Amino acid sequence: MFENKDAERTSISDLGEFGLIDHLTKHFEIKNEETILGIGDDAAILQPANDQQLVVTTDMLVEGVHFDLSYMPLKHLGYKAVVVNVSDLFAMNAEAKQITVSIAVSNRFPVEALEELYAGITTAAKTYGVDVVGGDTTSSTTGLVISVTAIGLGASDTLVRRSGAKENDLIVVTGDLGGAYLGLQVLEREKEVFKVNPKSQPDLEPYSYLIERQLKPEARKDIRPLLMELEVKPTSMIDISDGLSSELIHICKSSQMGCTLYEEKIPLDPQVITTCEEFELDSTTIALSGGEDYELLFTIDTADFDKIKGNPHLSVIGHINAENEGMHLVTRANTKIPLKARGWNALSDEK
Ligand code: ADP
Ligand code: MG
Repeated sequence: MFENKDAERTSISDLGEFGLIDHLTKHFEIKNEETILGIGDDAAILQPANDQQLVVTTDMLVEGVHFDLSYMPLKHLGYKAVVVNVSDLFAMNAEAKQITVSIAVSNRFPVEALEELYAGITTAAKTYGVDVVGGDTTSSTTGLVISVTAIGLGASDTLVRRSGAKENDLIVVTGDLGGAYLGLQVLEREKEVFKVNPKSQPDLEPYSYLIERQLKPEARKDIRPLLMELEVKPTSMIDISDGLSSELIHICKSSQMGCTLYEEKIPLDPQVITTCEEFELDSTTIALSGGEDYELLFTIDTADFDKIKGNPHLSVIGHINAENEGMHLVTRANTKIPLKARGWNALSDEK
């Protein structure tokens, strides 16, 4: 996984800027009727239906800051760059429609590397049903930077903000938490082993789910239609990019509310539990602060509880209370501790 494959290497300068853009983008097809004009002109033209509002978001990934190419294959990077953006659209309860992709790339990357990156972007665009309608290509003196902008649509009365949580609302999370952070820990450990012994063949099978969560995260495209079918409109929503605690604090602060979160309710995959034991990490801390899980966190009116009860994708993990009652975690031992915002950066400070 960590080796440089000595495959074909075509220099970017052989194609030139326009040749490169054409080479990377010529196969993109337009699928959505809201896309009038895609790549190839000075700008794209979009046509939302009458009652729809536009939802726009951008996320940038920088080599050495957000990803490490020694264990992140470029195809996965391209896929993830799209996922993190459509996840933000889904967190607004919007439908994803178009993306633009901008890259800054140094000449240490051959054209074949960018083809890999775009293969990942193409796969993600298919998975999430978005049209690639533009972007920008520029050179960089050192690493790789990829910035994606995603454009979505939603009727105004269906879009969900962070600010709508009300007292007594239930706090709900999709899927399970902590996997992506642990996947990164496993990959970092194997990278160190590889440095010492390049012939080592790591058995990553016991960590397969965790590594997939880190390298090939998925955005919860299924939640918007699920909630529509259940006739539940969240009162507030956010996606979990930095960890449960900081996202919940964002919802509380935006809504001017407090919250009570129950440790025993936090959904964890069995691989998260066993790997936490192996790494001597506390699984609750990992779920609270791990980040990059790209699950959705939302609040619902208590009257909607029966509609979501027992759904395998959804876990009720707490409730909203008045702002002056504060933000707390109730532990398994039934003690109440203040909830703190600690992203994955803070986690590494604890070592
Ligand atoms: P301009 O000089 O007008 O910005 P460019 O030559 O940069 O135009 O881009 C030509 C077309 O290719 C535009 O439609 C632009 O959006 C698209 N494009 C440029 N770079 C990328 C990229 N990395 N990925 C996708 N589309 C791109
Ligand atoms: Mg340009």
